Amino acid sequence: MEIEFVGAAREVTGSCHILRVAGKTIILDCGLFQGKRSDAQEKNLRLPLDIEQIDAIVLSHAHIDHAGRLPYLVRHGYAGSIWCTPATRDLCAVMLADSAHIQEKDAEFLARRGKERVEPLYSLRHTTRTIELMTGVPYKRSFDVVPGVRVTFIDAGHILGSASVLVDCTEGNDTRRFVFSADIGRSGLAIIRDPETPEGADVLVMESTYGNRTHESVEGARGRLASVIRDTAARGGRVLIPAFAVGRTQELIYDLHALARAGAIPSIPIYIDSPLAIDTTSVFEMHPDIFDHGEDLVQKVRDLFRFNLVHYTRDVEESKALAKMHGPMVIIAASGMAESGRILHHLAQGAADPKNTVLIVGFQAEHTLGRRIVERREMLRIFGEEVPLRAQVVIINGYSAHADRAELGSWVDRVREHSPGLKQVWLVHGEPPAQEELATTLSAKGLTVGCPAPRERHAF
Ligand SMILES: [Zn+2]
Ligand SMILES: [Zn+2]
Repeated sequence: MEIEFVGAAREVTGSCHILRVAGKTIILDCGLFQGKRSDAQEKNLRLPLDIEQIDAIVLSHAHIDHAGRLPYLVRHGYAGSIWCTPATRDLCAVMLADSAHIQEKDAEFLARRGKERVEPLYSLRHTTRTIELMTGVPYKRSFDVVPGVRVTFIDAGHILGSASVLVDCTEGNDTRRFVFSADIGRSGLAIIRDPETPEGADVLVMESTYGNRTHESVEGARGRLASVIRDTAARGGRVLIPAFAVGRTQELIYDLHALARAGAIPSIPIYIDSPLAIDTTSVFEMHPDIFDHGEDLVQKVRDLFRFNLVHYTRDVEESKALAKMHGPMVIIAASGMAESGRILHHLAQGAADPKNTVLIVGFQAEHTLGRRIVERREMLRIFGEEVPLRAQVVIINGYSAHADRAELGSWVDRVREHSPGLKQVWLVHGEPPAQEELATTLSAKGLTVGCPAPRERHAF
């Protein structure tokens, strides 16, 4: 039995690992590498291994850094099964199509600029075929992906449908439980359940994204959201929120719904100005069975994402009409780092008005417009024009869908309580400083910890 690390090794994107058991080869995740275009493109173009060698693929969740290269494998001839949860399959149907669309647009844009030719990794045709290969299996049902390899998904509490993957590997008389944490969520996140604890692990591959960071609490985030909206409405301004279409947007709608019911925010219109967010919200509505039924709002309200203040704008014309409206409002639009999407139009129009607030609820990578807003630059460049940043800027980091330092530590403690045989932990999906801090913490607990480089292989 052997594990080989391909992507998300000493970095956060491009999640991909290869499991070899009893002569069979299974891929865990195959996500896009993101970041600086030239570096990412080179990594994305390299297949993790020859397609003929892949016997099965198991996918942890629908985020593009985990699923985004599956259509590329299909384009190169992969025709076997892709196993995931039913909600992951439905989210992928929306998100992979969007990814194909973005790649085509990017390629066109670069071609027009006369820059180097960048071929899209795949097209809509390949994403459709990818979804056809996906089989959705609910949590806690065990199934054989190939002889000798039995998989069970448990809820990772990260985004809708996200799973930690338990893999029971058998060679001869020897069976080991290999656990892939995938992205680990947080307790108390809106809508989705708290992360479940893998049991009986012999080997653990775990994420380490925020191994050196502490997040604001989930409840604290909701309280601050309310006060931002109250203050901005009192000034007669707009709250502009760049947000990822999956997860973050639905959590915001949920919190706004709860706040509106409690009378904690004024009755101002809330516009969800993103076709992708509208589609992913529909996927949420298809899977109420996996919501956190311990939450007050989930128990009391049938339509979590529909209430009197919220409006979904799909048409471009409706979106443009928002610019001409008067009075306070909230606008939630993609993209999450304000690099593309309709949020750009709202920022171009609203960033110069000191009555408005730009509310940042997600991580903003270097070299993005979102990052420049976080840094409160005096001038922003949007659609080639200089726009002064005079709006208020508020940052709420409590909306992260990833466990922080303390939450990762207590997750491992729970795993160990139920895994007497666990010794070896491999850390993935983290930048080196985060990995080093988490590795130190776990070593102090008596575990053997490694931070594998790309293409490192280990027997277990
Ligand atoms: Zn994720
Ligand atoms: Zn991830």
